Amino acid sequence: MEVRIFGGIGEIGGNKVLVSSPDRLAIMLDFGKSFSREEAFFQHPFMSPMFPEDYFKTGLLPPSQGPEWRMEGYDITGLLISHAHLDHWGYLPLVHREIAVHLGEASKVILEAYRSMGFKDLSALEEFEMHTFKTGDVLDMEDLKVLPIHVDHSVPGAYGFLIECCSKKVAYTGDLRMHGPRSDMTLDFLDMLAEEGVDLLLMEATKVAPENDPEASLVKVLENRIWYRWKREPPKRVNFEVSSEREVGERMMEILEDSSRLVLVEVSPTDVDRVRTVCKVAERMGRELVVDERIGFMAEALSGAGISGLPSPGDYLLWRRKRRKGGEEVKLGAREPKPLVEFIERVEDKKGSGSVIWGDLRGEILKDENSYFVITSNATRFLYEIPLGVKPRIDFVMSRSEPFSEESALSMDRLMNWLLIYGVHRYYRIHVSGHLSPKQIADALERVNPTRIVPIHTEHPDLFDLYVPKGMRDRILLPEVGEPVNI
Ligand SMILES: [Zn+2]
Repeated sequence: MEVRIFGGIGEIGGNKVLVSSPDRLAIMLDFGKSFSREEAFFQHPFMSPMFPEDYFKTGLLPPSQGPEWRMEGYDITGLLISHAHLDHWGYLPLVHREIAVHLGEASKVILEAYRSMGFKDLSALEEFEMHTFKTGDVLDMEDLKVLPIHVDHSVPGAYGFLIECCSKKVAYTGDLRMHGPRSDMTLDFLDMLAEEGVDLLLMEATKVAPENDPEASLVKVLENRIWYRWKREPPKRVNFEVSSEREVGERMMEILEDSSRLVLVEVSPTDVDRVRTVCKVAERMGRELVVDERIGFMAEALSGAGISGLPSPGDYLLWRRKRRKGGEEVKLGAREPKPLVEFIERVEDKKGSGSVIWGDLRGEILKDENSYFVITSNATRFLYEIPLGVKPRIDFVMSRSEPFSEESALSMDRLMNWLLIYGVHRYYRIHVSGHLSPKQIADALERVNPTRIVPIHTEHPDLFDLYVPKGMRDRILLPEVGEPVNI
C-alpha cells in the first residue's frame, strides 16, 4: 500500500491524502481548502484562483488528468470526507463528477445547508454521486477496505478512517478532540485502532506549536498596526484559558452575568456544542435570543438530521442580512435561494411578525440593549449592519472553534476597527480548540501503538518528536508533499 500526502504537511488544514493499492487503485481522504497556500499565491477578492489550472500550477491541487480533478497516474475509486470543515472539503467542487463522494450524514446536511444559503462554489453539489456512511460500515473500494469510525470534534458527524489493503493497515485521524461532550467517540476510534493494529498512523497535530496560542501573536501584530496607522488604542483582547466545552459556558456566564449592554457572541454555525452552550447562557441571563440567518438556518438543518438541543424557529428573533435594492433595504432579495426564503417565512409563522429583524427594526431592538443576546456567525458583519445614529453599548465575546488561519486573522483586523466605532475597548475570547492537546496526542499514540507515525495538520511537524512518547520517536516519518510512503 502507498500513501501520498498532498496537503496538510506543514500547514493546518488543506488535508489531501492519497491511499493506493499496488495496482494503483486509489482513494482520496479529504480534499481541503488550503488557506495558507492560497494566501501565498493569491489575494482575495482581487486575484483569486479562477481556472482549474491556477490550482494545479500552485500545487493547491495534486496533478490531474484533466481540468476536473482526477489523480494523474491512478484510478480513483472514491473521495472520503472526514468532516464538514472547509479545510477538509473546500476543493470538492473541483473534483471530477465521476468520482463518488463518501461522507457522514451530518456532513452532507451541512454541505447542503451551505449550498441553500447561496455558497456559490457548492451550486454543483447535486452533480456528485454522494454516499453517506456511519460507524460500523465497511466500505468496499476495489482493493481497499475502509472503516469509518466516529470521533468527537467541533462539528457534528466527524470521522476517522482505518484502511486495509494487502494485510497492511493505515489509519487517518481527521481532526479530533478529547475534551468535548462526546470524548467517548474519540476513544472508540482509538480503541479500534489499538485492537486492529496500525502500520501507519496519520495523526493530526494541530496543537503542536512553539507557543500555546499562535493566534495571540498575530492579534498583537494587528493591534500594533491599528496603533501606528490610526493612532488609536486597539480594543484589548482578554483571553480566557479554558480546557473543556463545559468551562466555556461557565466562564461566559461569569463574564456576562451582570452585563447591562447588548451581548454579542461570534460562533461557528456548525459548532453545535458551542451554539448550545451559548444559547444556554442567553437563557440563564433571561435575555431574548437573536440569531443571524446562518446560525438559524444551519441549526434547523442539523435538527432535521436528528441533532438535538439546537434553537429552532419560534425560539429566537432572526437577524436578517442587509439586502438592498436601489437605495432601500429590502426584506427579501430577488434572487435569494428558495430554502432560505422558506426558512425566513417559517420563523415569521412561528414567532409572529416582527421576528425577522431588518430595516428600521434593527434600530428598534438595539435601543433596548440590555434585553437581547445576539449570536452571530460574523460579528464584523453584524456591526456593519447597525443603522446610522444607533450606538448600542456592546459586550463582545469571540467564541469560534474553527481552525486558525491567516485569513481569519486578517478579518480580525477589520473586526477590531468596527469594534472601535462602537466604543468597544475590550472584548473577550472564550474558546476551547477542537483538537487534541500535545499531552493528549502522546496519550493517543501510547494507546494505539502504531508502527509508523506521520504528523499532519500542523505547522510544526519538526517539533512533533518533542511530544511523542520517548520510545516512539524513531517511528516518526516526515515525508515531503506528494512523496510516496510505502507500507
Ligand atoms: Zn476540523
